[in-house]
Amino acid sequence: MTAFVRGPVGWVEVICGPMFSGKSEELIRRLRRAQIARQRVQVFKPVIDDRYSDEEIVSHSAQRIPAHNVRTAREIMEGVEPRTQVVGIDEAHFYDDEIATVVESLANVGKRVIVAGLDLDYLGQPFEHVTRLLAQAEEITKSLAICMRCGNPASRTQRLVASEERIVVGGARAYEARCRQCFEPRLSQVELALEDRGRARKAGQ
Ligand SMILES: [Zn+2]
Repeated sequence: MTAFVRGPVGWVEVICGPMFSGKSEELIRRLRRAQIARQRVQVFKPVIDDRYSDEEIVSHSAQRIPAHNVRTAREIMEGVEPRTQVVGIDEAHFYDDEIATVVESLANVGKRVIVAGLDLDYLGQPFEHVTRLLAQAEEITKSLAICMRCGNPASRTQRLVASEERIVVGGARAYEARCRQCFEPRLSQVELALEDRGRARKAGQ
């Protein structure tokens, strides 16, 4: 197991799954354990929205750890100090394609890289650069949430608001976890169509 890897062997761990499955919490837990083992840790998170640019990662259960804000995968590469032994990266799906190359390079120079992120988008389609990370990783953890409809284990992120953008930032009001059976990938398109119809009706009045 990862916890017993010693020395600069280089290693990639990916924690993936839907929203509300505890990915950030698990990332923070592993980083804390590395800190307890007196390893030098650096944590990175993408700046998605300037309003929420606090320099820390906060899980849904209010666990927190300080983090560097970055805008691109390259900024992670530039920000990692030579002495750093463990690199934590949250929200991997928000980065550009370069993220897989950056993670690979860091592991190749002997760092333990722990990455968390969504594996599927709101349509249930894979985030391509996260699937690349999964293939490159030594260890993969798939976290499941609880389906808000039926209570079964949930692997999908259900978007509840109308939008066809791949990335829409929002918490519990915009998304919920769903199982395969309860997942409705077309829901946000249906919502869009309803909005359009509403607008058309208003315009026609
Ligand atoms: Zn369900």
